[in-house]
Amino acid sequence: MSMPRSLTIMGSTGSIGTSALSVVQHANSLSETPVFSIDTLAAGSNASLLAEQAIAVGAKQAVIADEAKLAELQERLSGTGVLSFGGAQAVKDAACRPVDRVLAAIVGIDGLASTYAAVEAGNSVALANKESMVCAGPLLKQLAKQKSVAIIPTDSEHNAMFQVMERREDVERLILTASGGPFRKTSMADLESVTPEKALAHPRWEMGRKISIDSSTLFNKGLELIEAAYLFDVPEDQIEVVIHPQSILHSAVAYRDGSVLAQMGMPDMRTPIAHALTWPERRQPAPVEALDLIALGRLEFEDLDSERFPAIELAREAIRLGGGAPTVLNCANEGAVAAFLAGQCRFLDISWVVEKALNRFVSGPLAAQATDSLEAVMAVEAEAGRLTGALLAEANSRRVGV
Ligand code: NDP
Repeated sequence: MSMPRSLTIMGSTGSIGTSALSVVQHANSLSETPVFSIDTLAAGSNASLLAEQAIAVGAKQAVIADEAKLAELQERLSGTGVLSFGGAQAVKDAACRPVDRVLAAIVGIDGLASTYAAVEAGNSVALANKESMVCAGPLLKQLAKQKSVAIIPTDSEHNAMFQVMERREDVERLILTASGGPFRKTSMADLESVTPEKALAHPRWEMGRKISIDSSTLFNKGLELIEAAYLFDVPEDQIEVVIHPQSILHSAVAYRDGSVLAQMGMPDMRTPIAHALTWPERRQPAPVEALDLIALGRLEFEDLDSERFPAIELAREAIRLGGGAPTVLNCANEGAVAAFLAGQCRFLDISWVVEKALNRFVSGPLAAQATDSLEAVMAVEAEAGRLTGALLAEANSRRVGV
């Protein structure tokens, strides 16, 4: 009898986290002996769902980043045998406990510390938290190499490329597909007045709030372009972005002999999550709908309009600039998305703020700042946060002035 695969899930209460728990429970329910066991579940502030999940899957411990919610978590878990901890340090400590795989599914740069800690402790990581790779890609790759641990791409596009990746030296280009988001056909004039509500309604994927906005601006694809460049060590001019509204072909790798290998499936994150949690072991059954090619009939692809969606070009520029540029892009985007969701800036301000942040990065002292340690990256992040705040204020006064 083989031992269950032990997992820690960072961000268990989110969209990726709950999908992962559905994968775990489905696989366990179909097997005589458990396929997966849960060591730690960690979340930000949702103590009630975290406690419910921890009890349902028999986790050893539950960790909440928001210390003010620890008392509630403790109360909900009292008498269950599940241990509870609180605070950012506790989240990081949890990532270091030896397990077979840590799923990094916290949203935003907040996920970087625990992702880094997991790799440093020698844990292999299923990486959904793309912002970690965007801000600290070279650092994470180097650390993973040094510690001989695998980082398994879990973002559906990167997981697709990973699944069809043969020899790196034979790769001619990567083909990164994008659904195009809810505003694929929306005119520039109409983009002016987009509300958070409209932007959150993604046509294909049900996701957390931040990534839903990122999908509507295409900054999600920009972040993914940077993530792919780092994960697979491919220059940006060898990564093609193609709009594929059906989200069936999740990405592809083109080889020098003309072969193009793609991965397909229904748009359901439980497939890449199941793959990333089990690789290189046997695949596990996932609770997803089967792909019906006849019902689908055809696959559709189209070009990207970089005028309405400057995100891809800005991401390419950030890769070319290197150093702290991807961190600045990510930070400006995160700040602008939060402001947009809070009703404090407009939809088109998001790309304006990111573009200006990159421009100021190039001409200011940030460009010379080191990014060769986690502390150095976080110092760039702090500086970029101040710059973003100033640019958001400028975006608002610009409008008032009009
Ligand atoms: P959600 O907003 O749905 O979930 C975020 C999770 O992170 C929640 O569990 C949240 O806890 C937790 N969290 C937030 N801040 C902290 C913190 N400081 N410390 C500990 N936990 C924290 O996001 P998604 O699941 O949509 O996305 C997660 C990541 O996966 C993102 O990086 C996203 O880009 C990536 N991704 C998501 C996809 C999707 O389909 N959703 C697809 C591909 C990638 P709480 O609920 O308590 O706030």
